Amino acid sequence: MHYYSISNPNIQSSFREATLEGQPMGGGLYFPDQIPLWDSSFIQALPQLSKAEIGFRIMQPYVGGTLSDDVLFSIMEDVLSFDFPLKKINVNTWCLELFHGPTLAFKDLGARFLSRVMGHFATAGQRKIVVLVATSGDTGGAVADAFHGVEGTEVIILYPSGKVSPVQEKQLTTLGGNIHALEVLGDFDDCQRLVKQAFQDEKLKSGILLTSSNSINISRWLSQQVYYALALAQWPEDNAPVIAVPSGNFGNICAGLVAQQSGLPVKHFIAACNANNVFTNYLDTAIYQPKHAVATISNAMDVGNPSNFERILQLFNKDHGAVKKLVSSASISDADTEITISSMAKEQGYIMDPHTAVAYNALGKWRQKNGDHAGIILGTAHPVKFPDVVERVTGTPISIPEAVAGIMEKDKLSTTIKPDYQSLQEAIQHVKN
Ligand SMILES: *Cc1c(COP(=O)(O)O)cnc(C)c1O
Repeated sequence: MHYYSISNPNIQSSFREATLEGQPMGGGLYFPDQIPLWDSSFIQALPQLSKAEIGFRIMQPYVGGTLSDDVLFSIMEDVLSFDFPLKKINVNTWCLELFHGPTLAFKDLGARFLSRVMGHFATAGQRKIVVLVATSGDTGGAVADAFHGVEGTEVIILYPSGKVSPVQEKQLTTLGGNIHALEVLGDFDDCQRLVKQAFQDEKLKSGILLTSSNSINISRWLSQQVYYALALAQWPEDNAPVIAVPSGNFGNICAGLVAQQSGLPVKHFIAACNANNVFTNYLDTAIYQPKHAVATISNAMDVGNPSNFERILQLFNKDHGAVKKLVSSASISDADTEITISSMAKEQGYIMDPHTAVAYNALGKWRQKNGDHAGIILGTAHPVKFPDVVERVTGTPISIPEAVAGIMEKDKLSTTIKPDYQSLQEAIQHVKN
């Protein structure tokens, strides 16, 4: 298996190179040169297989021999060491809860897989891997937790001072060890600008492997296929489900589409969006028009130019009609999202975070037109990560799960820097030595 750059197919890399680089030279996205077909015996056996076995079978062809089977299997055992329950939430709807990992968001799986794989490649190579990431909240926590203690790696996280929630800040700043939090006296755009500048600085990069861990990395993107297989492994109905996915950068749903092309039985996908509706508009009009993101209560999906859109086009050979046949989309307002949270709490006693609620609402809209098919929504974050909205709308406090209970008492370890490049250079130099 090789990975080519969508914008320049002459650039070809192995799984190892593509994971370590993140992005191909000159920018753009990596894409696998084939989509493996799964044996029907594998699909039928899903309910009997362990999570690690499922993860191993899915990722083995993608890894293409750059990791031994033993190493890949033990990485999968480690990465998938928490639960992914499929819970029935009303008469014909189930929620696949992806928020039982260490940072309570679905990004844990992809970030953990990436960190273990990079850690393995780091010990096999000579250069220290320095992961540089700018975060507006959720990604930083998942990446910090995933890389904490992974040998051969150092992680530098830039976050905007005073602009992340208290829980998020603690998730970034209390680990220590190989995790270095830089509190930038500026906004998220400053953080991103500094990171971009560092990636262009050849002198700074000498002697280390400077890489990013954002969601376009193939290791993060493709490992998310495991979610869809775990959903089907627990699916109690005979007919294939409709699956609604809360979508922002479209990495998660694009992984689901790959799994479906490999043979996983999914009837239809729904890309559930908030007010950021460029994909919804694309399906309606066949025109893709990126926009500036607008702020919503499901803020992890506030994306105006989804980075995985190109991959969806590639998967369907740029055929708008083919995309439309398998994927629908709806754009859900904040007001409707709040109504969904409130009525699900009242009627079913099920508390949803705003992202998950967007998916539930979008599934309902699809059913109005297409009939009452049994469906799955992906629960992408624990409601406790969005306490302001959820407690206001439901009128009841959310109990704090163990994973975050102790964190608020821990000491914050961070270095405050001015939003200028020299300050970042000094911080990176410090980690290099
Ligand atoms: C990142 C995120 C999403 C969006 O996932 P994409 O793969 O970017 O589409 C949805 N919900 C939550 C809670 C997230 O953190």
